[in-house]
Amino acid sequence: MKVAVLGAKGRMGNEAVSAINSASDLTLSAALDLGDSLDQLTKSATEVIVDFTTPDAVMKNLEFAIKNDIHVVVGTTGFDENKLNTLRKLLSDHPKVGALIAPNFGLGAVLMMQFSQIAAKYFESAEIIEMHHAHKVDAPSGTAVRTAEIITSARRQNQKAEMPDATKSAIAGARGAKVGEVPVHSIRGHGYVAHQEVVFSDLGETLTIRHDSINRAGFMPGVLIGIRNVAKHPGLTVGLENYMEGMK
Ligand code: NAP
Repeated sequence: MKVAVLGAKGRMGNEAVSAINSASDLTLSAALDLGDSLDQLTKSATEVIVDFTTPDAVMKNLEFAIKNDIHVVVGTTGFDENKLNTLRKLLSDHPKVGALIAPNFGLGAVLMMQFSQIAAKYFESAEIIEMHHAHKVDAPSGTAVRTAEIITSARRQNQKAEMPDATKSAIAGARGAKVGEVPVHSIRGHGYVAHQEVVFSDLGETLTIRHDSINRAGFMPGVLIGIRNVAKHPGLTVGLENYMEGMK
């Protein structure tokens, strides 16, 4: 399969280039970065692109790929409903094209979210603490937001009562930022890569689900799952978990 990487000189893109070069069933057809022409994708008969660029650049890349019937595997973050709807519209004109938007390619991170969804219905309280490297420009992380949304939705489905919290006065931010019903606390520092704790609490016990990304290579098994399966899933898929069901 011919695979191109966009954002190939970046931290994640560079790692994706190495992972593709090490996979015997994949051929790197192009490694593009800022300023390179997207025409190289069609000239090289690319079948799948992997995008690790920036929230501002990604939509133009995806539009070009989809219009040329190239499948897209996307790690770039910052997808809101508007962007997803634009993609759905583009894909409706190219019904054979698959598009995977994966807020987190870490298999452990995907499982952390799934375990959190299960735990959410049994505990009265849930909070998230996420820790990332000091170069990260957005807070909270996309993974924390997604986890908080999943927990909120599970709580609502199970008609959980409001979380107990007697706080009457607080310095702004002391109780975190609420995403849905879940307070999220963001920590930044050079000692971190990407880490998250989901803390559940109820009378007399707590449950902490923790995931640690030690380095960027840890995302690559998930990226390869995306590349190898995207053509089998036409249309828009959000979340790598949708490709993991059949895994042994
Ligand atoms: P990065 O090191 O800044 O890399 C982004 C690269 O894309 C840079 O080389 C940048 O070039 C290039 N670029 C910018 N616009 C482009 C365009 N139009 N076409 C092609 N290349 C372009 O960032 P990163 O740490 O690799 O992260 C990339 C994205 O992946 C971010 O959105 C990040 O949040 C996300 N991410 C996702 C996961 C996941 O599991 N889904 C994990 C980690 C990170 P310049 O430097 O010259 O601007």
